[in-house]
Amino acid sequence: MSLVPFDDRDGEIWLNGELVPWRSAKTHTLSHGLHYASLVFEGERVYGGKIFKGKEHTKRLRISCNILDFDLPVMDEQLELAKQKVLHANKITDGYVRAFCWRGSEMMAVSAQKTSINLAIAAWEWPSYFDPVTKMAGISLGIADWKRPSPESAPVHAKAAGLYMICTLSKHRAEQQGFQDALMLDYRGYVAEATGANVFFVDKKGTLHTPTADCFLNGITRQTVISLAKSMEIEVVERHIMPQELASMKECFLTGTAAEVTPVSRIGDHEFVPSEICRQMVEGYSSIVNPA
Ligand code: PMP
Repeated sequence: MSLVPFDDRDGEIWLNGELVPWRSAKTHTLSHGLHYASLVFEGERVYGGKIFKGKEHTKRLRISCNILDFDLPVMDEQLELAKQKVLHANKITDGYVRAFCWRGSEMMAVSAQKTSINLAIAAWEWPSYFDPVTKMAGISLGIADWKRPSPESAPVHAKAAGLYMICTLSKHRAEQQGFQDALMLDYRGYVAEATGANVFFVDKKGTLHTPTADCFLNGITRQTVISLAKSMEIEVVERHIMPQELASMKECFLTGTAAEVTPVSRIGDHEFVPSEICRQMVEGYSSIVNPA
């Protein structure tokens, strides 16, 4: 597969208030964000020219900034407008938007109270391929060795770069073992989430079970799918789930902006058969994000 590097593409990126040519959207190598992970970000999808839940993503970006002890340097409306400018400049109607905010270069040590706060927005094409046959085959997950940390050990509710260190390590390990992603447990041993998506299980009665989001992101897609299921009169239980319970679950799927609803056919030695509930959630989510 030939990769088109993300620093060598045509188009424009919004950087600190203006659109700049894609290849010129640079930050210095001595940036606090790069060395000390003082960077937060959002991943959003655009469907038919409209960002799905754009305002919720902006709200979460602001919360992530505040958790990392800085302020988002623009008002919500300015950010919404800037995202639209980026989509327009790059002629994207179905794609992905990445807004991110990080501490600059004025201070290069642990303390960084006086750094500038940078904000950038990039977007690229990423059509949502809705091929129900491929989708319903499901993906396989290994079980990660790394555990999601306790809220006392990390700012777990921020979408912050530093929290992805163990996700990248876990996903690499899973891929090396032939899986497509990894299921991560939390610091107590409960099932938490995948490396970039939340997880749901379906029991034999057709009830949905999803881990309580008390030490990982309460995903915007997760919340959308919970409402969708409830609107279809499917019971949803948010609770702590032990890994041993996987054996009694019939179906499993992941949710996330990028993953949308992705059925899972295997976690370690447990097999699942993506069936009716997976199909209803995949199709239901698809019709929410692509209204007719
Ligand atoms: N958990 C992690 C670690 C993620 O990276 C994501 C993707 N942002 C999610 C959950 C799902 O969040 P959302 O549905 O808001 O995209």
